[in-house]
Amino acid sequence: GTAIEKSKVVEKTTSRLWNAMHRYNPDAQPTVAVSGEGSWFTDEEGNKYLDGVSGLWCLNLGYGRQEIADAAAEQMKKLSYFPLTMNHQPAVELAGKISELLGASYQTFFSNSGSEANETAFKIVRQYHNQTGNPGKYKFISRYRAYHGSTLGALSATAQANRRVKYDPGVPGFLHVYPPYSYRSIFGEDPEESDLKAAQMLEEMIIWEGEETVAAFIMEPFISGGGVIIPSNKYIQRVSEICKKYNVLLIMDEVVSGYGRTGKMFGFMHAEGVQPDIVTMAKGLTSGYLPLGATAVKSEIYDVFNQEGKDNHFRHVSTYGGHPAACAVALKNIEIIENEKIVDRVHELGETKLGKLDQLIDHKNVGEVRRVGFLLGLEMVTDKQSKTPLDDSKMGEIVGKCKQKGLIIGKNGDTVPGQNNVIIIAPPLSSTEEDLDFIIETVNSVIRSL
Ligand code: PMP
Repeated sequence: GTAIEKSKVVEKTTSRLWNAMHRYNPDAQPTVAVSGEGSWFTDEEGNKYLDGVSGLWCLNLGYGRQEIADAAAEQMKKLSYFPLTMNHQPAVELAGKISELLGASYQTFFSNSGSEANETAFKIVRQYHNQTGNPGKYKFISRYRAYHGSTLGALSATAQANRRVKYDPGVPGFLHVYPPYSYRSIFGEDPEESDLKAAQMLEEMIIWEGEETVAAFIMEPFISGGGVIIPSNKYIQRVSEICKKYNVLLIMDEVVSGYGRTGKMFGFMHAEGVQPDIVTMAKGLTSGYLPLGATAVKSEIYDVFNQEGKDNHFRHVSTYGGHPAACAVALKNIEIIENEKIVDRVHELGETKLGKLDQLIDHKNVGEVRRVGFLLGLEMVTDKQSKTPLDDSKMGEIVGKCKQKGLIIGKNGDTVPGQNNVIIIAPPLSSTEEDLDFIIETVNSVIRSL
């Protein structure tokens, strides 16, 4: 577009809309999206971009799926709204489907976002312990680098200093342990040994805090926004064993990992034998077509809220939570994921296509390539010896250059002061092979030009 058109766009995006993500991409011009199809969206000036981060890792089936739009419209015409203080059909059906997909018996409470799904989990956990003779169990443990949401409880579990300092103090009772991040760990560089020590830190914390005070541990199977951290195999199993040993509930945050992103239906399924007490989800549950959060709890936990003659009901309501149209969209989304074998596809193409980016490890600025399914992180450093993180302006340059070539990629922001140096690639799970080739070529050429 011309300079005049550009300045109009800039004015529009900066005048009245509070755009939370501006500083993520300081070198790029603001973009006003108007339409999208498949993995691509078009801005006001007619430029097309491949969305290599699926919106905010949510648009798993890409833009513009007619069947999903139809499912929403039909549901709105049939039953436009109904509260979940009673039941409606799409929510009942979806809760059944979620339990089936999780591979055990779960009861689901619906909300509107990932943050709300986690808040709901925290309240369920505290009430559960209260009602099972352990009222002193109120503390939650999460990991440094984790992101679990923006509301005060979820933010207190979010252990990223820059996101928190302006809003502290958080909710009392939230503690943090080291993540399984062997690339930069006080526990050494050997992935398995280092990660098992990170798990051991959880056990130490439970012991030192007093097991009678610790309520739950919340984790993503793969830390996503905090820099794409892929733990070694045994880590999740070990953490799950520790939680069981001390009656600490395991909350698995599948907001990003759920619904195929990692090449399994849920991320925790990479760890054999692990069945979380609570699974929280949002984003991929509807592929971003409508807002929906879900907190699925094991039926044994739910039973404690459902005993006759006791004042044990869960005093928690969400007006829009489990909106009929959002549930209808989720059901259609899941149907497509299953019919099109999206999970297998992600597993295969993650290897054969995105796996080609492993070769970037020979570049001096690439310290580590970490990936699982369609979730890939490039840890960018000034040199491999010192591992000094590439600075914000260099990172912005990489993101900006990709954008100039028509590719939107992400980077971790606000994780640790001075460590916002992980390039993140998480394309729609429905991306075509040509889309994936375009991502690989573009990222390769931009990084090789550094
Ligand atoms: N958990 C994780 C792992 C997330 O990545 C996010 C969002 N980025 C959330 C929770 C919060 O979800 P929402 O923005 O829908 O509240």
